[in-house]
This record gives sequence, C-alpha cells and structure tokens, in this order.
Amino acid sequence: MKLKRQKHDTSRYIPRNIRDEVYARDRGRCTFLAPGGKRCGSTWDLQIDHIVPFARGGDNSPSNLRLLCARHNQLEAERAYGNKFMKQFHEAGHDTG
Ligand SMILES: [Zn+2]
Repeated sequence: MKLKRQKHDTSRYIPRNIRDEVYARDRGRCTFLAPGGKRCGSTWDLQIDHIVPFARGGDNSPSNLRLLCARHNQLEAERAYGNKFMKQFHEAGHDTG
C-alpha cells in the first residue's frame, strides 16, 4: 500500500474501523461542498479530514471526520491554517517588475 504519511499525522491516527465507518457513511466519495451546494463526489486519492482540527480539540469520532479528495483536503487545510501563512508570502514577495 502506498500511503503518504506526514510526521504530524502520527498523533491523529484514525483506527481502521473508524476509517471504514467514515468511508461507508460518505460512500467512498469526497464530501466537499462547493459554494453552490454541489458535492465534489470525487473518488480520487481520498483522505480523511478532521472537521474540527485535531489541534483545536477535534477528536477521531466519525462525526468529526469526513472524506475529502486530496485537492479539497489541501484546500481546506489552506483555509484553516493558511491565511496567515499565505499572507506572509504576499508580504514577503518582492515585486521584481
Ligand atoms: Zn473533492
């Protein structure tokens, strides 16, 4: 099995049976809702996302977990953590024009 693991994921390990439950509930599809209310539904490179981030007290119960495709997982992560991070880049960026 090819799984990309990141160091910080070890503290939020999700037991197999919980993963199975989330997969079954979400029917193995990305649950991301576009602004228009349309569900992504992608089956590509699915990852389990914490609705309330683990770092903010979210737990590993199925009600706090959802399936997101890699792209939307990234998007949500940027939304949750990235604002300050991205702003840094903008402010640090030098206009070489
Ligand atoms: Zn998606």
